[in-house]
Amino acid sequence: MKGLKGKNALITGASSGIGQAIAIRLAQEGCNIAINYRKSSKDAENTEKMAMQKACGDIENCGVKSLLIQGDVSKEEDIVEMVNTVVDELGSLDILVNNAGIQIECPSHEVKTEDFDRVIEVNLRGAYLCARETIKHFLSQNRPGIIINISSVHEIIPRPMYVSYSISKGGMENMTKTLALEYANRGIRVNAIAPGATITPINEAWVNDPQKKAIVESHIPMGRAGTSEEMAAAVAFLASDEAAYITGQTLFVDGGLTLYADFREAWSA
Ligand code: NAD
Repeated sequence: MKGLKGKNALITGASSGIGQAIAIRLAQEGCNIAINYRKSSKDAENTEKMAMQKACGDIENCGVKSLLIQGDVSKEEDIVEMVNTVVDELGSLDILVNNAGIQIECPSHEVKTEDFDRVIEVNLRGAYLCARETIKHFLSQNRPGIIINISSVHEIIPRPMYVSYSISKGGMENMTKTLALEYANRGIRVNAIAPGATITPINEAWVNDPQKKAIVESHIPMGRAGTSEEMAAAVAFLASDEAAYITGQTLFVDGGLTLYADFREAWSA
Protein backbone atom coordinates (compact mmCIF):
# COMPACT_ATOMS: atom_id res chain seq x y z
CA MET A 1 0.00 0.00 0.00
CA LYS A 2 1.12 3.54 -0.79
CA GLY A 3 3.55 5.16 1.63
CA LEU A 4 4.39 2.24 3.90
CA LYS A 5 7.73 1.07 2.50
CA GLY A 6 10.63 2.00 4.78
CA LYS A 7 8.43 3.35 7.57
CA ASN A 8 9.21 2.35 11.16
CA ALA A 9 6.28 0.87 13.07
CA LEU A 10 5.93 -0.05 16.73
CA ILE A 11 3.17 -2.53 17.55
CA THR A 12 2.33 -3.18 21.20
CA GLY A 13 1.30 -6.67 22.31
CA ALA A 14 2.53 -8.04 19.00
CA SER A 15 3.46 -11.58 20.03
CA SER A 16 -0.03 -12.99 19.45
CA GLY A 17 -3.41 -12.52 17.80
CA ILE A 18 -4.26 -9.26 16.06
CA GLY A 19 -0.95 -7.56 17.03
CA GLN A 20 1.04 -10.40 15.52
CA ALA A 21 -0.97 -10.22 12.28
CA ILE A 22 -0.43 -6.44 12.13
CA ALA A 23 3.34 -6.85 12.57
CA ILE A 24 3.42 -9.44 9.78
CA ARG A 25 1.25 -7.35 7.44
CA LEU A 26 3.20 -4.13 7.98
CA ALA A 27 6.48 -5.99 7.37
CA GLN A 28 4.96 -7.40 4.18
CA GLU A 29 4.19 -3.80 3.16
CA GLY A 30 7.87 -2.93 3.65
CA CYS A 31 7.76 -1.39 7.14
CA ASN A 32 10.51 -1.99 9.67
CA ILE A 33 8.76 -3.42 12.69
CA ALA A 34 9.30 -3.12 16.44
CA ILE A 35 7.52 -6.03 18.10
CA ASN A 36 6.58 -5.26 21.69
CA TYR A 37 5.79 -8.20 23.94
CA ARG A 38 5.17 -8.47 27.65
CA LYS A 39 6.05 -12.04 28.58
CA SER A 40 6.97 -14.53 25.91
CA SER A 41 10.15 -13.77 23.98
CA LYS A 42 9.61 -17.08 22.17
CA ASP A 43 6.24 -15.93 20.80
CA ALA A 44 7.78 -12.57 19.83
CA GLU A 45 10.61 -14.36 17.99
CA ASN A 46 8.00 -16.43 16.22
CA THR A 47 6.19 -13.27 15.11
CA GLU A 48 9.49 -11.87 13.86
CA LYS A 49 10.28 -15.03 11.91
CA MET A 50 6.84 -15.10 10.26
CA ALA A 51 7.02 -11.38 9.46
CA MET A 52 10.46 -11.64 7.85
CA GLN A 53 9.42 -14.72 5.91
CA LYS A 54 6.37 -12.91 4.50
CA ALA A 55 8.29 -9.71 3.85
CA CYS A 56 11.31 -11.20 2.15
CA GLY A 57 11.14 -14.96 1.83
CA ASP A 58 14.84 -14.94 2.67
CA ILE A 59 15.21 -14.16 6.38
CA GLU A 60 18.99 -13.77 6.32
CA ASN A 61 19.07 -11.02 3.71
CA CYS A 62 15.82 -9.30 4.48
CA GLY A 63 15.71 -5.58 3.67
CA VAL A 64 13.05 -5.12 6.32
CA LYS A 65 14.43 -4.57 9.82
CA SER A 66 12.87 -5.91 13.00
CA LEU A 67 13.29 -5.33 16.68
CA LEU A 68 11.96 -7.23 19.69
CA ILE A 69 11.13 -5.08 22.71
CA GLN A 70 10.04 -6.46 26.04
CA GLY A 71 7.84 -4.03 27.95
CA ASP A 72 4.66 -3.71 29.96
CA VAL A 73 2.41 -0.92 28.67
CA SER A 74 0.95 -0.45 32.14
CA LYS A 75 4.40 0.82 33.25
CA GLU A 76 5.32 4.34 32.26
CA GLU A 77 9.07 3.67 32.48
CA ASP A 78 8.76 0.70 30.11
CA ILE A 79 6.90 2.84 27.57
CA VAL A 80 9.44 5.67 27.67
CA GLU A 81 12.27 3.17 27.22
CA MET A 82 10.40 1.34 24.46
CA VAL A 83 9.87 4.45 22.34
CA ASN A 84 13.47 5.59 22.94
CA THR A 85 14.80 2.17 21.94
CA VAL A 86 12.82 2.18 18.69
CA VAL A 87 14.13 5.64 17.82
CA ASP A 88 17.72 4.69 18.72
CA GLU A 89 17.69 1.37 16.86
CA LEU A 90 15.57 2.21 13.82
CA GLY A 91 16.41 5.92 13.58
CA SER A 92 12.86 7.20 14.02
CA LEU A 93 9.29 6.14 14.63
CA ASP A 94 6.54 6.74 12.05
CA ILE A 95 3.66 4.47 13.06
CA LEU A 96 2.41 3.45 16.51
CA VAL A 97 -0.18 0.70 16.79
CA ASN A 98 -1.74 0.56 20.26
CA ASN A 99 -2.84 -3.06 20.26
CA ALA A 100 -2.04 -4.49 23.72
CA GLY A 101 -5.22 -5.28 25.59
CA ILE A 102 -6.74 -7.48 28.26
CA GLN A 103 -10.21 -8.24 29.58
CA ILE A 104 -11.50 -9.59 32.89
CA GLU A 105 -14.97 -11.08 33.19
CA CYS A 106 -16.96 -10.33 36.34
CA PRO A 107 -20.40 -9.05 37.35
CA SER A 108 -20.07 -5.28 37.57
CA HIS A 109 -21.03 -5.07 41.24
CA GLU A 110 -18.31 -7.55 42.21
CA VAL A 111 -15.33 -6.20 40.26
CA LYS A 112 -12.22 -5.92 42.42
CA THR A 113 -10.72 -2.44 42.31
CA GLU A 114 -7.30 -3.83 41.38
CA ASP A 115 -8.82 -5.75 38.43
CA PHE A 116 -10.63 -2.64 37.24
CA ASP A 117 -7.42 -0.62 37.50
CA ARG A 118 -5.41 -3.29 35.69
CA VAL A 119 -7.68 -3.28 32.62
CA ILE A 120 -7.75 0.51 32.44
CA GLU A 121 -3.97 0.69 32.99
CA VAL A 122 -3.24 -1.63 30.08
CA ASN A 123 -6.01 -0.80 27.59
CA LEU A 124 -6.47 2.94 28.07
CA ARG A 125 -3.72 4.54 30.15
CA GLY A 126 -1.10 2.38 28.42
CA ALA A 127 -2.39 3.33 24.98
CA TYR A 128 -2.45 7.00 25.94
CA LEU A 129 1.10 6.96 27.37
CA CYS A 130 2.40 5.20 24.24
CA ALA A 131 0.66 7.86 22.13
CA ARG A 132 2.04 10.65 24.32
CA GLU A 133 5.65 9.48 24.02
CA THR A 134 5.26 8.87 20.29
CA ILE A 135 3.72 12.29 19.64
CA LYS A 136 6.61 13.90 21.59
CA HIS A 137 8.96 12.20 19.15
CA PHE A 138 6.95 13.26 16.07
CA LEU A 139 6.93 16.88 17.27
CA SER A 140 10.59 16.95 18.30
CA GLN A 141 11.60 15.80 14.81
CA ASN A 142 8.95 17.94 13.16
CA ARG A 143 7.80 14.87 11.27
CA PRO A 144 4.38 13.55 10.34
CA GLY A 145 3.17 10.41 12.06
CA ILE A 146 0.42 7.87 12.41
CA ILE A 147 -1.24 6.41 15.47
CA ILE A 148 -3.72 3.56 15.21
CA ASN A 149 -5.63 2.34 18.23
CA ILE A 150 -7.07 -1.16 18.36
CA SER A 151 -10.39 -0.51 19.98
CA SER A 152 -13.43 -2.82 19.86
CA VAL A 153 -17.08 -2.87 18.87
CA HIS A 154 -17.51 -2.45 22.64
CA GLU A 155 -16.44 1.16 22.33
CA ILE A 156 -20.13 1.64 21.42
CA ILE A 157 -21.87 -1.66 22.32
CA PRO A 158 -22.27 -2.00 26.11
CA ARG A 159 -20.75 -5.24 27.39
CA PRO A 160 -22.23 -6.57 30.62
CA MET A 161 -19.75 -8.55 32.80
CA TYR A 162 -16.87 -6.62 31.22
CA VAL A 163 -17.46 -3.12 32.53
CA SER A 164 -13.78 -2.14 32.73
CA TYR A 165 -13.18 -3.37 29.18
CA SER A 166 -16.19 -1.42 27.84
CA ILE A 167 -15.06 1.73 29.65
CA SER A 168 -11.50 1.34 28.35
CA LYS A 169 -12.64 1.05 24.74
CA GLY A 170 -15.21 3.85 25.11
CA GLY A 171 -12.37 6.01 26.41
CA MET A 172 -10.21 4.94 23.50
CA GLU A 173 -12.78 6.31 21.05
CA ASN A 174 -12.61 9.72 22.72
CA MET A 175 -8.81 9.58 22.92
CA THR A 176 -8.66 8.85 19.17
CA LYS A 177 -10.79 11.90 18.40
CA THR A 178 -9.13 14.22 20.91
CA LEU A 179 -5.58 13.48 19.76
CA ALA A 180 -6.64 13.59 16.11
CA LEU A 181 -8.10 17.06 16.55
CA GLU A 182 -5.23 18.36 18.65
CA TYR A 183 -2.48 17.33 16.21
CA ALA A 184 -4.25 17.38 12.81
CA ASN A 185 -2.44 20.53 11.72
CA ARG A 186 0.95 18.99 12.50
CA GLY A 187 0.67 16.07 10.10
CA ILE A 188 -0.25 13.53 12.76
CA ARG A 189 -3.19 11.26 11.95
CA VAL A 190 -4.88 9.30 14.72
CA ASN A 191 -7.43 6.60 13.88
CA ALA A 192 -8.76 3.38 15.33
CA ILE A 193 -10.15 0.08 14.19
CA ALA A 194 -12.94 -1.61 16.12
CA PRO A 195 -12.75 -5.37 15.63
CA GLY A 196 -15.82 -7.52 16.12
CA ALA A 197 -15.50 -11.09 17.37
CA THR A 198 -12.11 -12.22 16.09
CA ILE A 199 -10.39 -15.59 16.30
CA THR A 200 -7.49 -14.93 18.69
CA PRO A 201 -6.22 -16.19 22.08
CA ILE A 202 -8.26 -13.53 23.95
CA ASN A 203 -11.35 -15.52 22.90
CA GLU A 204 -10.06 -18.92 23.97
CA ALA A 205 -13.38 -19.40 25.82
CA TRP A 206 -15.17 -20.09 22.51
CA VAL A 207 -12.84 -20.24 19.50
CA ASN A 208 -11.99 -23.92 19.89
CA ASP A 209 -15.44 -25.08 20.97
CA PRO A 210 -17.61 -25.61 17.84
CA GLN A 211 -20.88 -25.25 19.78
CA LYS A 212 -19.91 -22.03 21.54
CA LYS A 213 -18.39 -20.67 18.32
CA ALA A 214 -21.66 -21.35 16.47
CA ILE A 215 -23.57 -19.38 19.13
CA VAL A 216 -21.19 -16.43 18.79
CA GLU A 217 -21.39 -16.55 15.00
CA SER A 218 -25.21 -16.67 15.03
CA HIS A 219 -25.12 -13.08 16.32
CA ILE A 220 -22.90 -11.84 13.50
CA PRO A 221 -24.75 -10.69 10.35
CA MET A 222 -22.01 -12.08 8.07
CA GLY A 223 -22.28 -15.41 9.91
CA ARG A 224 -18.65 -15.85 10.92
CA ALA A 225 -15.99 -14.50 13.24
CA GLY A 226 -13.26 -12.29 11.78
CA THR A 227 -9.60 -13.15 11.38
CA SER A 228 -6.55 -11.30 12.66
CA GLU A 229 -5.45 -10.86 9.05
CA GLU A 230 -8.68 -9.00 8.26
CA MET A 231 -7.98 -6.63 11.15
CA ALA A 232 -4.39 -6.17 10.00
CA ALA A 233 -5.54 -5.25 6.48
CA ALA A 234 -7.64 -2.40 7.88
CA VAL A 235 -4.68 -1.19 9.95
CA ALA A 236 -2.39 -1.26 6.91
CA PHE A 237 -4.92 0.83 5.00
CA LEU A 238 -5.26 3.43 7.77
CA ALA A 239 -1.46 3.59 8.19
CA SER A 240 -0.89 4.04 4.47
CA ASP A 241 -1.08 7.15 2.31
CA GLU A 242 -4.31 5.74 0.86
CA ALA A 243 -5.87 7.07 4.07
CA ALA A 244 -4.00 10.39 3.94
CA TYR A 245 -7.16 12.46 4.50
CA ILE A 246 -8.64 10.30 7.27
CA THR A 247 -8.19 11.22 10.92
CA GLY A 248 -10.17 10.85 14.15
CA GLN A 249 -12.16 7.91 12.80
CA THR A 250 -12.91 4.43 14.03
CA LEU A 251 -13.26 1.85 11.29
CA PHE A 252 -15.52 -0.99 12.40
CA VAL A 253 -14.24 -4.32 11.09
CA ASP A 254 -16.97 -6.50 12.47
CA GLY A 255 -18.93 -8.45 9.83
CA GLY A 256 -21.91 -6.21 10.53
CA LEU A 257 -21.98 -6.72 14.31
CA THR A 258 -22.73 -3.05 14.94
CA LEU A 259 -25.74 -3.12 12.57
CA TYR A 260 -28.18 -4.36 15.27
CA ALA A 261 -28.50 -7.99 14.15
CA ASP A 262 -31.78 -8.31 16.05
CA PHE A 263 -33.37 -6.13 13.35
CA ARG A 264 -32.54 -8.57 10.55
CA GLU A 265 -36.17 -9.67 10.50
CA ALA A 266 -39.19 -7.54 11.30
CA TRP A 267 -40.25 -7.95 14.94
CA SER A 268 -43.92 -7.97 14.01
CA ALA A 269 -45.93 -8.20 10.80
P1 NAD B 1 -4.42 -11.44 22.42
O1 NAD B 1 -4.65 -11.81 23.84
O2 NAD B 1 -3.83 -12.44 21.51
O3 NAD B 1 -3.54 -10.13 22.31
C1 NAD B 1 -3.34 -9.20 23.32
C2 NAD B 1 -1.85 -8.94 23.40
O4 NAD B 1 -1.61 -7.89 24.36
C3 NAD B 1 -1.08 -10.17 23.90
O5 NAD B 1 0.03 -10.40 23.05
C4 NAD B 1 -0.62 -9.78 25.29
O6 NAD B 1 0.61 -10.37 25.67
C5 NAD B 1 -0.49 -8.28 25.12
N1 NAD B 1 -0.51 -7.59 26.41
C6 NAD B 1 -1.39 -7.76 27.43
N2 NAD B 1 -1.05 -6.97 28.46
C7 NAD B 1 0.06 -6.29 28.08
C8 NAD B 1 0.88 -5.32 28.70
N3 NAD B 1 0.64 -4.91 29.95
N4 NAD B 1 1.94 -4.83 28.01
C9 NAD B 1 2.21 -5.25 26.76
N5 NAD B 1 1.47 -6.16 26.12
C10 NAD B 1 0.41 -6.68 26.78
O7 NAD B 1 -5.84 -10.96 21.89
P2 NAD B 1 -6.24 -10.10 20.60
O8 NAD B 1 -7.63 -10.46 20.30
O9 NAD B 1 -5.22 -10.22 19.54
O10 NAD B 1 -6.26 -8.62 21.20
C11 NAD B 1 -5.58 -7.53 20.60
C12 NAD B 1 -6.40 -6.28 20.75
O11 NAD B 1 -7.61 -6.43 20.00
C13 NAD B 1 -6.83 -5.97 22.19
O12 NAD B 1 -6.70 -4.60 22.44
C14 NAD B 1 -8.29 -6.37 22.20
O13 NAD B 1 -9.05 -5.65 23.14
C15 NAD B 1 -8.70 -6.02 20.78
N6 NAD B 1 -9.92 -6.69 20.32
C16 NAD B 1 -9.98 -8.03 20.16
C17 NAD B 1 -11.15 -8.63 19.73
C18 NAD B 1 -11.28 -10.10 19.53
O14 NAD B 1 -12.43 -10.58 19.34
N7 NAD B 1 -10.20 -10.87 19.50
C19 NAD B 1 -12.28 -7.84 19.48
C20 NAD B 1 -12.20 -6.48 19.67
C21 NAD B 1 -11.01 -5.91 20.09
